[in-house]
Amino acid sequence: MMKLTLTLRPYEKQAALRKLCEKRLHAPVRYFRILKKSLDARDKSDIKWVYSVECSSRNEEIPKPVYTQIVAPMPKVYIAGAGPAGLFCALRLLFHGIRPIVVERGRPVERRAEDVAAFQRTGVLDPSSNVQFGEGGAGAFSDGKLNTQTNSPLNREILDLFVRFGAPEEVGYLGKPHVGSSNLRKVVANIRAYILEQGGEVRFGTALTDYEVKNGKLTAVFLNGVREEADALVLAVGHSARDTFEVLLGKGMRMEQKEFAAGVRIEHLQAAIGKAQYGAGYAALPPADYKLVSHAAERSVFSFCMCPGGVVIPSASEEGGVVTNGMSEFARDGVNANAALVVQVKREDFGSDHPLAGVAFQRKMERAAFAAAGGGYRAPVQLVGDFLVGKESYYFGEVRPTYARGTAFAPVEAYLPPALTESLRTGILDMNGKLEGFAAYDAVLTGVESRTSSPVRILRGDDLQAAGIAGVYPCGEGCGYAGGIMSAAADGIRVAYAIAQKYF
Ligand SMILES: Cc1cc2nc3c(=O)[nH]c(=O)nc-3n(C[C@H](O)[C@H](O)[C@H](O)COP(=O)(O)OP(=O)(O)OC[C@H]3O[C@@H](n4cnc5c(N)ncnc54)[C@H](O)[C@@H]3O)c2cc1C
Repeated sequence: MMKLTLTLRPYEKQAALRKLCEKRLHAPVRYFRILKKSLDARDKSDIKWVYSVECSSRNEEIPKPVYTQIVAPMPKVYIAGAGPAGLFCALRLLFHGIRPIVVERGRPVERRAEDVAAFQRTGVLDPSSNVQFGEGGAGAFSDGKLNTQTNSPLNREILDLFVRFGAPEEVGYLGKPHVGSSNLRKVVANIRAYILEQGGEVRFGTALTDYEVKNGKLTAVFLNGVREEADALVLAVGHSARDTFEVLLGKGMRMEQKEFAAGVRIEHLQAAIGKAQYGAGYAALPPADYKLVSHAAERSVFSFCMCPGGVVIPSASEEGGVVTNGMSEFARDGVNANAALVVQVKREDFGSDHPLAGVAFQRKMERAAFAAAGGGYRAPVQLVGDFLVGKESYYFGEVRPTYARGTAFAPVEAYLPPALTESLRTGILDMNGKLEGFAAYDAVLTGVESRTSSPVRILRGDDLQAAGIAGVYPCGEGCGYAGGIMSAAADGIRVAYAIAQKYF
């Protein structure tokens, strides 16, 4: 087997790679696999795709992972939440021979898509089925970007599972893999079908409302108020399960405040981002993205969850609050580019030592944004040029906001605290030096980007069980152990392994 690094020009077809391999092998190719593909655009006059491939003149077998099976009687494992953490936890438990019961407060992903569309059309919010809640979790209506800052050995397994359950094959090898919202929903439905086929359970419209502990050990869960005996409970409830956090805190679960980031969504024309990143030939290349950080202000400002050719999506899960996020379909062919542009929030901003003070801080910004835009889940918008000089906006330029519930002009100061707005101003100007046109007068700022990560952490030990409660496993983003689809899925797998290990 030979490992090679090969390059292709943007106009060359991927099929040319096999020919290049044959040249190097001096023999016909029988085994060929792309391991990685990324775009090298550092030199705008010499943009190229760089591939890492393995090839051989023999038929090679890709080794399949082997999972240890449990030997003891089947434990009753409940997973609260069918987001990436809960779903990948369920898959890994099944691989070890444990059939979990997944409980999800929201609806199946197909029904949920209808609820999300109805909210965008009518402004009537279903607090248990929306962009944050329902099968697939917060990630289901996302761009499905599967890049991660973590270098977890589990990343390979997760990407392979995405492809196995219906994501495009390139997700397995692209440097910046992206599933797209439509494909992501298909993957989620396929994972559910697999869980059911393998003897697991998935219950929708079923919320974890309480749990029972005797002698420091979990004995039962309460689902929509009804008691069921349990050996283990995985808390994969996501960062927006504010009512669940209150129940857990009330039961004495050890929880602490966690800092996060907050700000706005910024929208530009996708063509402007393409020209700035790739130069004149941008149209022949994939829609350009960016990732920016500025340390010019007192607080760091950074872009996050950049969605090329995407839209800003209304992401509220609580009545009377406006929340933004971003998504795109697989083609990324929308007119605008959007990204979260956020500032580090510090504990001192919360104004209290209460473990859930960060939730109250988020809620305050979300309600202020709702009020600033005049209700109906319209979002407040301001042009970058006006924001930078402290003026109100009255008309749009070339960039039109994509937020589907409609917008109203209102200054960023109406919903973000001064420490955040000041840093945001300095950060935007600094970023303009790194990406031409970032501070374009008519770029649009839409608020408020408040749910970037969890405002709490539920403490757990090295065995991944909640501090002082055997059998309860805080997991994923909501409990403070992940920040994105990949890291949430990886944490789900880690928790599954910790549970299974007890029964090997
Ligand atoms: C619009 C949008 C776009 C995003 N884009 C990306 C992206 O491109 N790439 C990326 O990496 N990340 C993205 N994210 C973030 C990503 O979706 C989250 O980091 C990830 O989903 C967290 O996974 P999780 O399983 O920990 O929690 P979640 O996905 O939040 O899942 C938690 C689940 O628990 C359920 N639940 C809550 N309380 C209870 C209860 N008491 N009982 C039963 N069920 C309960 C919820 O309904 C939900 O389905 C995006 C988020 C949003 C909102």
